[in-house]
Amino acid sequence: MEGPRLSGIGMTSARTRERLVQRLLEQGITDERVLDRIRNVPRHLFMDEALASRAYEDTALPIGFGQTISQPFVVAQMTAAVLKAGEASRVLEIGTGCGYQTAVLSPLVAEIYTIERIASLLTRARRTLRELRIRNVHYRHDDGSVGWPARAPFDGILLTAAPHAVPPALFDQLKIGGRLIAPVGPDGRQELIRYIKTEARIERQSLGLVSFVPLLSGLQR
Ligand code: SAH
Repeated sequence: MEGPRLSGIGMTSARTRERLVQRLLEQGITDERVLDRIRNVPRHLFMDEALASRAYEDTALPIGFGQTISQPFVVAQMTAAVLKAGEASRVLEIGTGCGYQTAVLSPLVAEIYTIERIASLLTRARRTLRELRIRNVHYRHDDGSVGWPARAPFDGILLTAAPHAVPPALFDQLKIGGRLIAPVGPDGRQELIRYIKTEARIERQSLGLVSFVPLLSGLQR
């Protein structure tokens, strides 16, 4: 049985979600599996009820603690970018936030390792993902700049908070052929970059301009 939070309400209807999917399609998101996740993940459950009516707008929204739930277009773009030739097995995510990106990616990979520096957000994300029966996620309260060496190497690494430069430790934890997707640059004006690790070097492709919250150091309760 679905609890009250999981039951349909007008603003979160299939039609509203379909409109969002159409918009992403028009903006160049073509990976069907990604579009399907945007269609099926109940984004309104990841935010405050007061904002739920705006959940299927293509915009970032506040989730408390000065943090935001990412814009669906950017979540879709990052998800598509981390999957290569249709698969990625083990992915590290830095910046769990409310867990929306985690939920979108979860059935498309075998295991997700996710790190969040704000304990309260991590607890809430874990609860929401459990409610949605998402079970292939491993959680860690830590500063993600150091990665998760004990669980490395990863096929993919996603940063959902922006560093000025990607911490070198993260490239060390990436497999050869692995992808690291990160918004890089100063506050509010970053470039979304896909790095690909090859035997010889790290290749770099720009995916466009974005605006993310900054990657911060240290822990918060
Ligand atoms: N992935 C989320 C967006 C999260 S916003 C979504 O799907 O909507 C970015 C998150 O990164 C915030 O929750 C912030 O607390 C976290 N963060 C910032 N710096 C961090 C760090 N060094 N280590 C881990 N998490 C960090």
